[in-house]
Amino acid sequence: FTLIDPLKGPGKGVRFSDVAGLREAKLEVMEFVDYLKRPDHYKSLGAKVPRGALLLGPPGCGKTLLAKAVATEANVPFLSMNGLGAARVRDLFKEARKRAPCIIYIDEIDAVGRKRSGQLGTEQISGESEQTLNQLLVEMDGMASKEGVIMLASTNRADILDKALLRPGRFDRHILIDYPDMIERRQIFEQHLKGIQLEKAPDTYAKRLAYLTPGFSGADIANVCNEAALHAARLKKTKVDRTDLEYAVERLVGGTEKRTHAMS
Ligand code: ATP
Repeated sequence: FTLIDPLKGPGKGVRFSDVAGLREAKLEVMEFVDYLKRPDHYKSLGAKVPRGALLLGPPGCGKTLLAKAVATEANVPFLSMNGLGAARVRDLFKEARKRAPCIIYIDEIDAVGRKRSGQLGTEQISGESEQTLNQLLVEMDGMASKEGVIMLASTNRADILDKALLRPGRFDRHILIDYPDMIERRQIFEQHLKGIQLEKAPDTYAKRLAYLTPGFSGADIANVCNEAALHAARLKKTKVDRTDLEYAVERLVGGTEKRTHAMS
């Protein structure tokens, strides 16, 4: 697993202000931030905080970003799981107990948590995935809510998840992180254009770019901004202008169209 420790890091973690849009989702995760900041307060009140949440939605729309922001805002370590293996899961939870309060993040939980064999209409999963999932369920059940560990997991395929993961006390809370609408795209453009040497102020471009990019994810938007900067650099310009940005949009529209067709 990977550990990001905001207490030891350079203090440049992702904050809520770096996550554009996603207003509802941010409100939903605020409760976790408050709990992680003062678990004892909740404990003394006898309040049972949800142990975690599943972040649902298409790739590149800010699931990982939001999970990291929760950790930074609460100033707690962020432990993210990569790869399969029951031993990995055991080690991860052991470390999390040691570091609590903290966050465990499992990206693309569908890789681990596919429906197991024996459930109706399912694809077979590998033995290793099944062992990983079983260990994950054991660890989740063994983790009392008072321990101060919040578990967040992301997926874009909730339909293929093993039902055991979705039972009460496990990932029973779902937070939708969908494609950004026009207003959100504008905010994401403003966010990412800040890092670029532009001819005019970011808000001069953001509105039109948002209008030109329906179906783009936050990751696509970040990509547009970078492509535009690369284009300007190739042309030996000192500032990025509207033609660079529109060139980058055109280039990426091809890619997102292919993806939309593949999904439908
Ligand atoms: P995946 O399922 O592919 O991991 P994800 O939903 O976890 O996708 P992120 O890794 O959070 O996506 O986002 C990828 C990148 O896209 C971010 O690092 C950021 O640059 C940009 N991005 C995505 N959503 C937003 C947003 N709401 N605000 C600002 N930037 C965003």
